[in-house]
Amino acid sequence: MVILLALIGLGFCAALSRSLYLEENKSITAKFRADVTLLATAFEREVQLNLEILFALKASVGMMPEMNAKLFEKLTRQVLERSPAIKAIAWSPVVSQEDRAGFEQRQQNWYPGFVLSEIPATAGALPAEAPPWLVPVQFIEPIADNRAAIGFDLSSESKRRTALLAARETGEMVSTAAIELLQEQDNQNGLLVFAPLYSGASDTTPEDRAARNYGFMNGVFRIGELVKQSIPTAIDSNILVQIVDRTDGAQDVIYSTGRSSDERWLRSLIHEIPLAPVAGRNWVVQAMPGATFVSARRGYLPLLVIGFGFSFIVLLVFFAVRSLRQNAELNQTKRELEKISLTDALTGLANRRHFDLYLEQEWSRALRQSQPISMVMLDIDYFKAFNDAYGHPLGDQCLKQVAQALEQVVQRPTDLAARYGGEEFALVLPDTQNAAAVAEACRVAIQALGIVHELSDVAPVITVSAGVCSLIPTRKMSPAVLIQQADDALYEAKETGRNKVLDKGYFGGV
Ligand code: GH3
Ligand code: MG
Ligand code: MG
Repeated sequence: MVILLALIGLGFCAALSRSLYLEENKSITAKFRADVTLLATAFEREVQLNLEILFALKASVGMMPEMNAKLFEKLTRQVLERSPAIKAIAWSPVVSQEDRAGFEQRQQNWYPGFVLSEIPATAGALPAEAPPWLVPVQFIEPIADNRAAIGFDLSSESKRRTALLAARETGEMVSTAAIELLQEQDNQNGLLVFAPLYSGASDTTPEDRAARNYGFMNGVFRIGELVKQSIPTAIDSNILVQIVDRTDGAQDVIYSTGRSSDERWLRSLIHEIPLAPVAGRNWVVQAMPGATFVSARRGYLPLLVIGFGFSFIVLLVFFAVRSLRQNAELNQTKRELEKISLTDALTGLANRRHFDLYLEQEWSRALRQSQPISMVMLDIDYFKAFNDAYGHPLGDQCLKQVAQALEQVVQRPTDLAARYGGEEFALVLPDTQNAAAVAEACRVAIQALGIVHELSDVAPVITVSAGVCSLIPTRKMSPAVLIQQADDALYEAKETGRNKVLDKGYFGGV
């Protein structure tokens, strides 16, 4: 029982600890997701803000009929100083093939030695048929870092041309897929965004827009810097953050704070937050926590519960087992005491107390079942003289032998032989037809012991006299009646010669 209870307790502890552990997992996951959501929101805002800058510059340029290098520098300088994520802002007009030479000529006023060139074909082949126009970079700021880009025809490279065409036809800002920014320290990825400008209104048909498109403002954004600006310190080194471009089913990781293949990132807890379209591109912020992110936020409660719970139960079991053992010892002692309290020390027979209790119990049973109950009272003949002649120790020895002889004769489990007092013995014989015969057998057995008693008047050995009485109890009687009758019979046996059994028969006459 103790083991079973302990097992239940242990099971309960383990279950509680596990549920606390799972609860903790949940709250850590929730914390992680909340962190990522904050981070993605900040990043999204930063990206949109930077795109707005390009849009505002485009609107300003749209209001200026003539653009020149000085004006362009003035227009962009302050913006660029305040926006580290913008690597460059350029103005690129649409120039027809026929005007190519004229454009080069005019451009040399600003930049002596200006030539219109094509971007080295690094990224895929262009369609065989080039459009009848060019989009050369005319002005770019900051000029110091980007002089090499002046004169590049943006329509001569496939990623840029795709974005240009889309922007020209939709009137919206359109971004290229991420491109590797050269001349940057960490070769970080960049984003080239085209904002188209039109003469007259732009809210017409795609064909009409294409016809009236006269140039593009384009901005080059550093993706890494956008991340840094929005979340300067928040990127916990325990969280891997990646920006994934999913436009048209692509899976381009365009920015990552670490190596995603690293073992320490818990892929199972990956969390993704899609962003609002970034100049026509679908970006997702994807994040995974590191193992230490989780372990650092774990509490000790589940461990405490299991540790304390187990110790507590072990202690309980220890005390329970100890008290059970003590109980068993106490019970054993109690049984022994009981036995002692019911046994006569000298003869080992039932003592007077036992006799009284047993007679009471069997009397009630006989009363309930209307069955006879008999009693035999035995008394050693001339025992005072025996004591006087042979001394008390031999007297005691004689009592023991007499008791043994009685035990030999009285063998039915329901019979009881008791030392009634001094040299008197009593037998309780429930439901016995021949009580006198039992008494006679006792008398014969004792005489047969052959304990020499020279001072006896009835025999040369120890003998007993016995009085027998039987009755069927009624409610009006008490056990004292039975004792009294047996005692009377015994007295009569003594009076009428000793060493004999006197049977009163059934008291009340049955
Ligand atoms: P009677 O035949 O009439 O029974 O004579 P009796 O001498 O046996 O009867 P009495 O009652 O005069 O004497 C009983 C004696 O039994 C007295 C005592 O010396 C002895 N006796 C009683 N208890 C013990 C005992 O525990 N040990 C010993 N050795 N003697 C005992
Ligand atoms: Mg006596
Ligand atoms: Mg006697």
